[in-house]
Amino acid sequence: MKLAKNLLSFFYPRMCVACGDALQQNETSICIECMLHLPETGCHKERDNPLRSVFDGRARVEEVAALMSYSKDNKVQKILHGLKYGGQKEVGEVLGEYYGKQLAAEERFSQAGCIVPVPLHRRKLRKRGYNQSEWIARGLSKAMHIPYVTGVLVREDYTETQTKKSRYARWMNVKEVFAVKNGEKIAGLHVILCDDVLTTGATAEAAIHKLEEIPGVKVSVVTLAAVVY
Ligand SMILES: [Zn+2]
Repeated sequence: MKLAKNLLSFFYPRMCVACGDALQQNETSICIECMLHLPETGCHKERDNPLRSVFDGRARVEEVAALMSYSKDNKVQKILHGLKYGGQKEVGEVLGEYYGKQLAAEERFSQAGCIVPVPLHRRKLRKRGYNQSEWIARGLSKAMHIPYVTGVLVREDYTETQTKKSRYARWMNVKEVFAVKNGEKIAGLHVILCDDVLTTGATAEAAIHKLEEIPGVKVSVVTLAAVVY
């Protein structure tokens, strides 16, 4: 087995998703050098950070935090691209766990009751084979000792949405695509909604509004990267 594995890594060396260098045996998805130089925001330490204002007047949020700042020329783009389109799901778990350890030190996050990954549309899930946000949730969950819950926040079937809903509803887009199933499973909990990247906040906003239909639920948002910083 070991020989086979070594042979495999000889012909197909595992590479760092951020810089492309060969990974050492003890590294997963991303090399230590890149881990040491992540453009971290540190924004989880302050409640009124600039990310929070993304939701001003749009949705009620408890906390908002992102591990890294996103800009087009840095390695963050490569990480997110690998995570989403390159089959590099493990990097979601590695970085989720890394950030989870930091969040666990902040009571505003550590007191949360569950983690809910933003669901992928069924068709996209079939094509990609995994939901990248779920892998981030796995990492966060591991480090924070808070369970992650799938199947409660779901995407409505695309074709159904397309055919049954009015043109106006389609134009309104994201607001229409989330649904809640068996909401009682997370009733009364502080939910950490997690996703790979926070840009305009439209997706998170739509998800928050759906989650808020569940009695007693309050929502925080945690992503690997954010454009605002
Ligand atoms: Zn690297």
